[in-house]
Amino acid sequence: ETADGIPLRVENLRKTFGGIVAVDDATFEVEAGSLTGLIGPNGAGKSTTFNCIAGAHAPDSGTVTFQGENITGLRPEQIANRGLVRTFQIARELEEMTVLENLMLAPKGQRGESLWRSVTPFARGEVVDQELEIRERVWEMLEFFEIDHIAHHEAGTLSGGQRKLLEMARALMTDPDMVLLDEPLAGVNPTLEEKLLERIHELRGQGYTFLLVEHDMDVIMENCEHVIVMHQGSVLAEGEPEAVQQNERVIQAYLGE
Ligand code: ADP
Ligand code: MG
Repeated sequence: ETADGIPLRVENLRKTFGGIVAVDDATFEVEAGSLTGLIGPNGAGKSTTFNCIAGAHAPDSGTVTFQGENITGLRPEQIANRGLVRTFQIARELEEMTVLENLMLAPKGQRGESLWRSVTPFARGEVVDQELEIRERVWEMLEFFEIDHIAHHEAGTLSGGQRKLLEMARALMTDPDMVLLDEPLAGVNPTLEEKLLERIHELRGQGYTFLLVEHDMDVIMENCEHVIVMHQGSVLAEGEPEAVQQNERVIQAYLGE
């Protein structure tokens, strides 16, 4: 971690798709241990920003620094190895696998990649230990998110809310320091929403840092201590939730939606 306690710094980030400027000179920071909200009208560039931070897209220009290291343009697994992940929707090919299998696979190719790669045919004992270790963590995760009772259900049969819990559990399997959540509550019923938010706060108490994109302004206002507002690819405003909500430019930006 950096001495100034800022794990993530995005500077002058720019990403275009053909003629579309999705992210336009965006600059912001996320503090260690915070639950920071990233909001903005549809098309503001939030998801593209996430993709540039987590390595799914290479930005046209700008810098992403994580815990003092320049991670701009690194591959997603390289970034995950450094402790920064984003949640992903369960891919179609994983829908036929059980919840348990989805989690068993999660560390592979992400933060656990080095661990898996170190496995040689001459280290069978180690292989067993590592698998046991992963299995143990999987069950911890299943219990933490209260999805252990559906461990053997195929991922494709889960409700929208259960899916979101699994997506978050998958991201956490890599043992990250910071998690990017892109609309983790979309399609989630109020009971599960409450549970998910509780879990996020609990994890935050353990030292995890979260950057949360969420459409529901009440959720942002009630849960985030700092809010960054994007509009047309740039940061329009940021600050405490109440201040941001009353910001005239922010109100104007949302009126255009
Ligand atoms: P948000 O998540 O804030 O709704 P996005 O980052 O998804 O916004 O999109 C920002 C802009 O970039 C939009 O105009 C969107 O249509 C465009 N965009 C996003 N991804 C792509 C892509 N893969 N190809 C072309 N245009 C894209
Ligand atoms: Mg989006």
